Amino acid sequence: MPLALDPHLRRALAERVRFYNELGIYDFYQREPRLAENAEQAPAADVALSVQSQSEVREEMSARKSAAVARVAGENALEILPSKPEYGIADPAAALKLIREDLGDCMRCRLHQQGRKQIVFGVGNPHAELMFVGEGPGADEDAQGEPFVGRAGQLLNNMIKAMGIRREDVYIANVVKCRPPGNRTPERDECETCSPFLMRQIAAIKPKVVVALGAVSARNLLAINAPMSELRGRWYDFKPAGSDASWPGARLAVTYHPAFLLRDPRQKGEAWKDLQMVMKYLGLEAPKRPEE
Ligand code: SF4
Repeated sequence: MPLALDPHLRRALAERVRFYNELGIYDFYQREPRLAENAEQAPAADVALSVQSQSEVREEMSARKSAAVARVAGENALEILPSKPEYGIADPAAALKLIREDLGDCMRCRLHQQGRKQIVFGVGNPHAELMFVGEGPGADEDAQGEPFVGRAGQLLNNMIKAMGIRREDVYIANVVKCRPPGNRTPERDECETCSPFLMRQIAAIKPKVVVALGAVSARNLLAINAPMSELRGRWYDFKPAGSDASWPGARLAVTYHPAFLLRDPRQKGEAWKDLQMVMKYLGLEAPKRPEE
């Protein structure tokens, strides 16, 4: 049975949801039986916070999104939660296009104003069984708008080739989509702001295997703060929140970032072991070791 909410609270809830949508977050856990209770008993401070968020972000609202908020604010509380733009889109290429449009000319974190030339969204086969996820774009990637195109990208290409497949067969993306200045490690809040879009990319592609390249990628994907020595050498079950229920999820493996392997080539053998684990699972032939 529909639950009636105070219009002011309903509007505040809609604004709060829209605020998270602006960040690319669409998946919420909702305790339905308690929603009405909480609505009636919501502390004034909480409502005030919602109204503050509303004023903070109002100026950034596009006409399309403002209209959407006005629409949901006038509806039932349980209908406030909108679906992602790509929800129900079976074609991964079309879903990725919608996610890219939703990302827009993103200014959600400070990296948008720290010298990026362009957003580096991702590249590859939208139907890929195998997906590689790195940390963030470097100078070459920033210039060309494509992940892993510099020296590290060349090594990644060699690794992919050694697995018996082509770069065009896989999908490649990063945790953050804008180049951190000086190739510094992205900050935690930058990763947290940007990674919902990566999660949506993974949910759209539905790969069989995700390979996290480096500790930053692994820690963000798995939400585990552990060293590489503990992260590598095993499988993880991985399924972003809000993914299609019919998709069982991916298996996730961790290996070294190619940029690290360029600095310490002695670890290439270890990386190759990680890739062999992936190849075995995907039924790929192992023709040779990665090129030096
Ligand atoms: S890194 Fe991600 S969240 Fe930050 S500005 Fe770029 S696209 Fe937006």
